[in-house]
Amino acid sequence: MPRYVKRKDSDTWHWCTNCSNYPTGLNVNVSYKKPTYGELCDECQAKEKEDRCTG
Ligand SMILES: [Zn+2]
Repeated sequence: MPRYVKRKDSDTWHWCTNCSNYPTGLNVNVSYKKPTYGELCDECQAKEKEDRCTG
């Protein structure tokens, strides 16, 4: 089950910890199911497609 994380000042959710834009620090929102608002990161989606997503 992926954990979705986004910066509070951004609308983009990430779920691959190896994404170059994966948010770090405390200023983040976390969702344990697919978010119903905001955007899904293109890079995370590409990694998932290529089976390179590190959760
Ligand atoms: Zn991402």
